[in-house]
Amino acid sequence: MSYFRRDIDELVGYTPGEQPQAGKFIKLNTNENPYPPSPAVARAISATLERGLSRYPDPLATAFRQRAGEVLGVDPDGILCGNGSDEILTLVTRAFVGERELLRLPYPSYILYKTLAQIQGARSEEVHFAADWSLSDDFLRPADGLRLALLPNPNSPSGTIIRPQRVLELAERLPCPLLVDEAYVDFAETNCLALVSASDNILVSRSLSKSYALAGLRFGFLVAQPQVIAGLRKVKDSYNCDALSIAGATAAIDASAWLAENRARILATRVRLTAGLRALGFAVVESQANFVWATHDGRSARTLYEQLKQNHVLVRYMDYAGWGDGLRISVGTDDQIDACLALLKTMV
Ligand SMILES: *Cc1c(COP(=O)(O)O)cnc(C)c1O
Repeated sequence: MSYFRRDIDELVGYTPGEQPQAGKFIKLNTNENPYPPSPAVARAISATLERGLSRYPDPLATAFRQRAGEVLGVDPDGILCGNGSDEILTLVTRAFVGERELLRLPYPSYILYKTLAQIQGARSEEVHFAADWSLSDDFLRPADGLRLALLPNPNSPSGTIIRPQRVLELAERLPCPLLVDEAYVDFAETNCLALVSASDNILVSRSLSKSYALAGLRFGFLVAQPQVIAGLRKVKDSYNCDALSIAGATAAIDASAWLAENRARILATRVRLTAGLRALGFAVVESQANFVWATHDGRSARTLYEQLKQNHVLVRYMDYAGWGDGLRISVGTDDQIDACLALLKTMV
């Protein structure tokens, strides 16, 4: 006999990308930033530490919301902070999708979404991307119990983006809110932040893990209309962000010049990675993120992944049931990418 809810017993838990604790790996598997964050982040964390941690943190992370509001041009009352944007996704799912209700997501995309529905005892429905990674009107058709649609934009694993005009159209015709997961948007040409004031159906989540090089800090946030944020605040833990992460995140969002410089470097290396893989016979999707999706007609993606791993280069092998497999390779430093390409050259 099990003490767990049936939904939990039946759940195969989400497995994040490998984080090897031993051995020296070139890590190109979880889309972390290869460069250190702005030095202002460590200074802000140290200053907070010196003041001490005996008090509870600000439950609403007001300092961050004010700074982010100015930097991004949004209303601070329209921002909800979370322990990583994964927590934001959990909170929104918990608040909107009841037991046996329906969550819609595109396929293939971020695997975690389906797990969130399962934890909730809810159903999920996958709508396949078209061959060119666009989304057909199937994504917006009504369905019984449909309560939330999630759209990673840029998408993972493809790195492709749905243009804001089309996102607005999807949101306006969907009978439920649309959460646009912009974890990678700082590496893209467009974003959907301006749509939030146009439609109370649109929620935009952001992460400091990738573009701000702070995956270890655990900080993400949601932008939506203030009445939506007010509702979500009722669902979150009182102190979901700790004092050190709030201080670090506030310094990070303020460091616009650092972000621009980091972005430029990653984008330049993305060009190099894409060209290098294509020269080796890979099909590579044009990416708007800090990773690329690569497949090879003549070689098994799983074998390439394993051979790279034996040589201490970690990439992400993804196998999507009913769709296909491939390699998702994060944009590291030029040296890391050159090492990866040199190894692949001996394998294909
Ligand atoms: C990495 C990632 C996240 C999670 O980011 P955290 O802020 O680290 O929780 C969310 N969505 C997508 C699509 C991601 O790839």
